[in-house]
Amino acid sequence: MIQEFGDEHRYDNHFEPHQAGEKDYVLHFRDGKCLARVTHVGGSDADAGDSGEVVELPRLGDYPSAPAKATYLFSLGEDRFFLAFDEDLAAPAGFGYESVNWLRRAEPQHLLFAAATASQLSRWYQDNRFCGRCGHATEIAPSSREIVCPECAHIVYPKICPGIICAVTRLADDPTDDAIVLTRYAGRTTALWALVAGFTEIGEPLEDTVRREVMEEVGLSVKNLRFYKSQPWGFTDTLLVGFWCEVDGDPAITVDRFELKEARWFTRDEIPLERTNDRASLTGEMIERFRTMGRAAWE
Ligand SMILES: [Zn+2]
Repeated sequence: MIQEFGDEHRYDNHFEPHQAGEKDYVLHFRDGKCLARVTHVGGSDADAGDSGEVVELPRLGDYPSAPAKATYLFSLGEDRFFLAFDEDLAAPAGFGYESVNWLRRAEPQHLLFAAATASQLSRWYQDNRFCGRCGHATEIAPSSREIVCPECAHIVYPKICPGIICAVTRLADDPTDDAIVLTRYAGRTTALWALVAGFTEIGEPLEDTVRREVMEEVGLSVKNLRFYKSQPWGFTDTLLVGFWCEVDGDPAITVDRFELKEARWFTRDEIPLERTNDRASLTGEMIERFRTMGRAAWE
């Protein structure tokens, strides 16, 4: 998954008011896009997560002139990452603004994680320049990851939206007939088959999010919910929580046409191989785990 790239680049999000040095990464976003340099190294199967793209992110020393205002974000091992706030910034030679979602197909994985996580923090800073309570201009707290209002003392913390990913399974007398529900947006030809997913509503425990989303998207009741793993997903400010569950009762799927999805049962043999190279997503890991392990995926 996107957050798994080895101890050499261990994530440390403890905030300190560091100043950027020449070798430190200083990221910059414009219209949601990340300043990056992407090199093509062969391979063409982008949808399978194997586009053969290598991404570089800018370091302070790469810029023609240093950003006027920046804040420390986090470290990955020895690498420190900062965010530049300048509205206009001369880009280093060879760098351009790339869609963060597109970058997720490139290597190396720790820089993708850095770009996705920095994009989440960048949106948070961008969206909270004024106090939501009194309207006064806010300030960035000097020694903690907080945005504070000097007028009314309102404090804003980073935004993390919980959501669920749910593998709905159907167990047969013969395990080779075990099946899983996959869904996709019918109107998007590039959409991959995925699992049922959705955001948690206020006042709702995660288990109820699973039951509600499965009923809304495919019209099934479920039982035997089992937590699998969670995954930060900075692209959408999300913390995704993965569950296995089994259909309870009638397995006939009713597709939610409002969300324009198609959905059906796949036995392990029928699962498309489009996710086999998806290194980033919890969804991909769970689909592949069921395809290769069957019901042993959660036992
Ligand atoms: Zn205020």
